[in-house]
Amino acid sequence: MAENSLKRIIPLADQRPTALAVPAAALAPSSRIHPSGLLSDTRQRPLRDLRISVTDRCNFRCSYCMPKEVFHKDYPYLPHAALLSFEEITRLTQQFVAHGVQKIRLTGGEPLLRRNLEILIQQLAALRTPDGRPLDLTLTTNGALLERKAQALKDAGLRRLTISLDSLSDTVFRAMNDVDFPVQEVLAGIAAAQRVGFSAIKINMVVKRGVNDDQIVAMARHFRGSGLVLRFIEYMDVGSSNGWRMDDVLPSSELIARLQAEMPLLRLPSNSPGETAQRWGYATADGRHDPQAGEIGVISSVTQAFCGDCNRARLSTEGQLYLCLFAQQGHDLRSLLRGGASDADLASAIGHIWGARDDHYSELRSALRAADAPARARPEMSYIGG
Ligand code: SAM
Ligand code: SF4
Ligand code: SF4
Repeated sequence: MAENSLKRIIPLADQRPTALAVPAAALAPSSRIHPSGLLSDTRQRPLRDLRISVTDRCNFRCSYCMPKEVFHKDYPYLPHAALLSFEEITRLTQQFVAHGVQKIRLTGGEPLLRRNLEILIQQLAALRTPDGRPLDLTLTTNGALLERKAQALKDAGLRRLTISLDSLSDTVFRAMNDVDFPVQEVLAGIAAAQRVGFSAIKINMVVKRGVNDDQIVAMARHFRGSGLVLRFIEYMDVGSSNGWRMDDVLPSSELIARLQAEMPLLRLPSNSPGETAQRWGYATADGRHDPQAGEIGVISSVTQAFCGDCNRARLSTEGQLYLCLFAQQGHDLRSLLRGGASDADLASAIGHIWGARDDHYSELRSALRAADAPARARPEMSYIGG
């Protein structure tokens, strides 16, 4: 048999790790944890932010996230029955909210590929925090389907949007999404989101040295004064497939220095504890922040660890709770859901899992790399949710 046909018929090992079972203590009457809104982990970090991956599929193949060589047409994506249903997601989210979650981000994969997503948004938009406030409900998208879907997302109750855009150059953009998708269509999606009245739109640009770092200044100029907040993200070593090297990372300090050479910037205070982005405002000639020109953000996930106040949990497409973007395993909440657990069981499980959390990978990254620790197999970002 020819080598090529052999390659095609060998079944791919499923790279998703097995899930951790929910600790038995969570379900024992004597050690139940009831939601109080005051949950904290072993490092005294509260749980405030939940990122929910609604699909592990995507219509792009960004090399830093879902490289084509790994995510090819025979890749074993999750079957539909493995995905949490909208009712399951909403039921779990209710318990997270009872524990103090205030912000929900829908992500993926590409969340706009999940059919009838507006129904989930409606359900989540109807939830209230224990003191009666609506959730801060947002979604991260590559923008490819946004022009078509912006109105329906707004009508369903989505409050904010983050759109990923790595370049304004059509050539660079098509190469980075690796499916030859034109940048104009994402720009049309952004315009549609503005037109239908999304007020807080963020633009995420992952910066890879030598690939799109020559686009930084053009991106800043384009979005300056637009009311949209451009955020530059350091290329991260998430997952196991992107072949990450420190040399490919453009440290935020260098990025800010490059921008400063073209347009004056000044540091702005953070909006809230646990905020991932460091804020920089465009400055006037006399050195004050110019609110008309707006601001940018830098997310220095690699060069300046921000684990100290990390209040984010991630719910994978198939209902595993991940306590860190770099965790090797998740905790299996789907088995509980599908095994007849009550709301109190679900809440207690979340309480026990978060209460035992000690994750702080970004603070350990340099030490692990300096010690030449063997690379750990980790689930992909498209699966656990970016
Ligand atoms: N498909 C949607 C999108 O691209 O916006 C949502 C999912 S994507 C995994 C969420 C965010 O993670 C995107 O802004 C993407 O650029 C970012 N991302 C993916 N891989 C990354 C990496 N290796 N380093 C830094 N950011 C990454
Ligand atoms: Fe898809 Fe988003 Fe990953 Fe790009 S970053 S491959 S758009 S999930
Ligand atoms: Fe949070 Fe983990 Fe990222 Fe640290 S490395 S900021 S704990 S997600």
